[in-house]
Amino acid sequence: MKGHILIVDDQKGVRRLLEELFKNDGWKVHLACDGKEAVAKVSEMTPEIILMDMKMPDMNGLEASQVILSRQEQIPIIMMTAYGEMEVVSRALNAGVKKCITKPFDIMELRELVQEVILNKVS
Ligand SMILES: [Mg+2]
Repeated sequence: MKGHILIVDDQKGVRRLLEELFKNDGWKVHLACDGKEAVAKVSEMTPEIILMDMKMPDMNGLEASQVILSRQEQIPIIMMTAYGEMEVVSRALNAGVKKCITKPFDIMELRELVQEVILNKVS
């Protein structure tokens, strides 16, 4: 039985696609459309893993990750960045984000990355 996954992206199409993928895999899926909503959701429930878009209005993925990890550093976050955002990637990893994946990505690649991060968390 899989736990709770929080998917954060300002694009509805991306949220829908990832929601369907992870629901089919047995996850209890929660959605947020920006960084502020993600921070609010995490204060209500503790997801086992978070998929976080970088570019979002109001509060971006890096800022949201920093706030979340300052409160609950054990939650693994995978950040979805745009091609060429190398500086953002290194700042995210320094902030404690576990992995970054470049958009556009193969959803099977993201699925494998989630498995990998969850396995590393357990061991
Ligand atoms: Mg975005």
